[in-house]
Amino acid sequence: MLKFSEQQEQLRKVVRDFVEKEIATIASKIDQEDTCPVELLRMTAQLGYNGVFVPECYQGVGLGYTERAIILEEIARHSAGFALALMTHHLGVYAILTWGNEEQKQKYLPKLCSGSIAGLAVTEPGGGSDFAGMKSTGELVDGYWVLNGRKCFITNSHCADINIVVVRTGEDEKGRPRMSVFVIDENTPGCKPGRKEKKTGLKGSDMGDVILDNVKVPASNLIGKPGDGAKIGLGTISEVGRSGMAAIGLGILRACLEDSVKFAKERIIYGRPLAKLTNIQFIIAQNRTDYEAGRLLTYNAVGIKDAGLPCVPEISIAKYFTTEAAINTAKRTIDLMGGYGVICDYPVDRYLRDAVASIPSGGTSYVMQIIIAGSALS
Ligand SMILES: Cc1cc2nc3c(=O)[nH]c(=O)nc-3n(C[C@H](O)[C@H](O)[C@H](O)COP(=O)(O)OP(=O)(O)OC[C@H]3O[C@@H](n4cnc5c(N)ncnc54)[C@H](O)[C@@H]3O)c2cc1C
Repeated sequence: MLKFSEQQEQLRKVVRDFVEKEIATIASKIDQEDTCPVELLRMTAQLGYNGVFVPECYQGVGLGYTERAIILEEIARHSAGFALALMTHHLGVYAILTWGNEEQKQKYLPKLCSGSIAGLAVTEPGGGSDFAGMKSTGELVDGYWVLNGRKCFITNSHCADINIVVVRTGEDEKGRPRMSVFVIDENTPGCKPGRKEKKTGLKGSDMGDVILDNVKVPASNLIGKPGDGAKIGLGTISEVGRSGMAAIGLGILRACLEDSVKFAKERIIYGRPLAKLTNIQFIIAQNRTDYEAGRLLTYNAVGIKDAGLPCVPEISIAKYFTTEAAINTAKRTIDLMGGYGVICDYPVDRYLRDAVASIPSGGTSYVMQIIIAGSALS
């Protein structure tokens, strides 16, 4: 049986109250305006959500990845788009916390816990899944790293204060690309947002290009060692990015379940509630089953991460299942609602758009299947 601690249940309650008061009421506006409500990210910082898994010595709240998933699920229940902005901020935080040196942790983590926003820029126009194919470069010139290139599809591209970027810094002895990771401070000349994308869903988080045009960073801004880029970039995405997306998928699943139950009880057809029809009950049963399965998979996976054990296959399974199930559940909920399902006054069309947009974020379903199969066959 999945069981949360008293402290975790209390956290869920506090987050839910906050989300119902501050986010649910503007979720539709966030979606329509398609911009990141930066002021909400400052509020979540004050509540400790931006540094939820950061130790207290760096001004975090010292909790774990289960608590992070609780926060993201609760936010995504009403605004998956805004949840994506927070979840991506966590990626920058995690990279510094896990691979940064003490000086970097002292310098960046307190800021990132208290309101500065982070982004993690890996993807390039040449392909996100093809990590080794990236073309952006970092060159060591007179003791400084000079970064050049164009990153695309980057969440928080237009609101991040601190950018973590992965670039190519040479080749190993076998001619394979060597990647390295740099932190770029606020207002560093040459680092600027480029084109902003209009997404199908997950609006409420900015997404676009991050341009690196002769960005000069001191050697002290290198995270880890030269050549650690694959370990840091993929390590962050595969454990923290995908577990975050699983929690966001779970929030969408719960939204669909709760809204389908409410609509089925309230809608009167043939003189009685829609919920009396057997096929409608089948939809509710499928929605509930998908939510419960997603919940077990997601909290199992983050529980393994919290225990410090290898968790990549479990997290990939949770991400793959919840995001795909969210699409099916949103589509079924639209069917359940008849004509009302396609009226934009109801949020269910947003749930479907958000679910569709969640598939590539953090790695596509095909990539998840390759990881899952690889682990089963090894
Ligand atoms: C909402 C959203 C937010 C994002 N935020 C960020 C961010 O903050 N930072 C960041 O760096 N990136 C971000 N991304 C980019 C995301 O990581 C990429 O979109 C994703 O990795 C896929 O890369 P791609 O879009 O280039 O597709 P491609 O890699 O070109 O994939 C195209 C198709 O080929 C398939 N495919 C690829 N490789 C294989 C393979 N080996 N075998 C079989 N099929 C394969 C894919 O499944 C897909 O169907 C975000 C994307 C979205 C949608």
